Amino acid sequence: MKTMTIKEFHAALQAQGVKAREDLAVVCPRCKTVQSARDLIAAGAGADFVAVDGYVGFSCVGRWTGAGSPRKTPDGKPCNWTLGGLFSLHTLEVVTEDGKHHPRFELATPEQAQAHEKANAPTVQRLPADDTEGGAA
Ligand SMILES: [Zn+2]
Repeated sequence: MKTMTIKEFHAALQAQGVKAREDLAVVCPRCKTVQSARDLIAAGAGADFVAVDGYVGFSCVGRWTGAGSPRKTPDGKPCNWTLGGLFSLHTLEVVTEDGKHHPRFELATPEQAQAHEKANAPTVQRLPADDTEGGAA
């Protein structure tokens, strides 16, 4: 079991080098997919970062997309794993100042996090100027 203090955990997240906290990335210990708050928001786990914060690194994004149980061999798709379940198969625990151990998904490497950030980059949609006056009313 790997353990990190909160300080080390935050430093490792900082070291991922992504621009938005929504893109800080973790790796599900079962299906090995890289995921971030942005994925959880997109999957409908919550409306914004604050709403999904408690799930990042704790529940696989697949829980909100109808994914199945973890496969024996990771196939690149999310699963329905959560660390809140019966079996403890996590490999990382974050130790808070009160000495409590909190299971967490492993953190993505800076390379993984930045590649994931890029893949998830929000597409800016601009409405044609004409659309602002037409339509309803
Ligand atoms: Zn998973």
